[in-house]
Amino acid sequence: MSSTAFITGISGQDGAYLADFLLAKNYRVFGLVSRRSVDTLWRLDELGIRERVGIVEGDLSDMSSLSRALERTQPDEVYNLAAQSFVGASWNQPVLTAKVTGLGSAYMLEALRLVGCPARYYQASSSEMFGKTVTPLQNEDSPLHPRSPYGVAKVFAHCLTVNYRESFGLHASSGILFNHESPLRGEEFVSRKITLGAAAIALGRADTLRLGNLEARRDWGYAGDYVQAMWLMLQQEQPGDFVIGTGTSHAVRDLCRIAFGHLGLNYEDHVTSDASLRRPAEVDALRADPSKARRVLGWQARVGFEQLVAMMVDADMRRLQTRGRQPMADRGL
Ligand code: NDP
Ligand code: GDP
Repeated sequence: MSSTAFITGISGQDGAYLADFLLAKNYRVFGLVSRRSVDTLWRLDELGIRERVGIVEGDLSDMSSLSRALERTQPDEVYNLAAQSFVGASWNQPVLTAKVTGLGSAYMLEALRLVGCPARYYQASSSEMFGKTVTPLQNEDSPLHPRSPYGVAKVFAHCLTVNYRESFGLHASSGILFNHESPLRGEEFVSRKITLGAAAIALGRADTLRLGNLEARRDWGYAGDYVQAMWLMLQQEQPGDFVIGTGTSHAVRDLCRIAFGHLGLNYEDHVTSDASLRRPAEVDALRADPSKARRVLGWQARVGFEQLVAMMVDADMRRLQTRGRQPMADRGL
């Protein structure tokens, strides 16, 4: 008999790729969708899986909707991916971020306990928890020093997942994922902002791209690779915490150079660094040490940085050419 998965955040980047991955493994896939999400199911459309996914209406901040969803879907695996996931927005909406990104994990874990659902649980933790890093590479034991309300909320959700595992013996795992991108990434994140901006400039629809801090460094991988790691965590006999990343890091400036270079352009002719787009507190550099994931899960990233950026630029060129879409206006940091 096939297994059943329940995914919160199925309308997001990772939710869509994870649903696609699990359907290919013959899972029955259900996803929590809030009423806001009607327009964001486009990702499921792009992957051609909208009709194959069971949509359950609800909200991560409404525990009764989560309990009902679990009773209805009877999942074997629960992937808690829903969040206010944009660091930049979290300074303007710290309370919402705390409620959804932080407390949402408590609602989900409590719903599992109260319904008596024996499902294995995955929590989407984040490298943003490391924040002000003290070592060049971060692993599962690195100190947590979040630098944004988003990072703080993720620390709560992460620690609660560990606590429920230790308190109640839940099969609850936490994936500490470093930044991962794709053509389905939200346009507010710097990778998409750059690839979409470069495509618009190449097509003569814009001339400049305003960014914030060009020196920040991230360990950027491909989302399609990372959803496999989520699944692998729930296939282990023992739950645990796993750092997932490529082990390499690049600056925002490198991302600009490669994206514009892919289109035969020099980013220095178009990109400006605007002080007003800098964050109140920055995470300067993140780089994963994914050796535990490699050793225990047999997982490693397959798509490299240049390949990832080229894939995103090509997708944005196609989108702009076929849909005549204009790039977004600045939406903050
Ligand atoms: P997205 O922003 O693409 O997706 C977030 C999802 O959460 C959307 O489906 C959104 O729905 C949903 N959501 C937001 N608020 C609620 C709510 N109150 N109730 C129910 N659903 C809600 O994020 P990603 O797919 O990129 O990331 C998935 C998870 O992984 C997130 O928790 C993120 O913080 C975390 N993460 C991501 C990393 C990355 O680099 N991508 C790195 C590390 C962690 P809607 O469309 O309606 O807003
Ligand atoms: P994050 O790592 O989850 O915050 O992912 P983002 O893609 O939002 O940001 C990655 C890095 O890019 C951060 O250090 C930002 O400060 C930096 N950055 C520089 N300019 C911009 C910009 O215009 N938008 C965003 N989102 N980030 C920017």
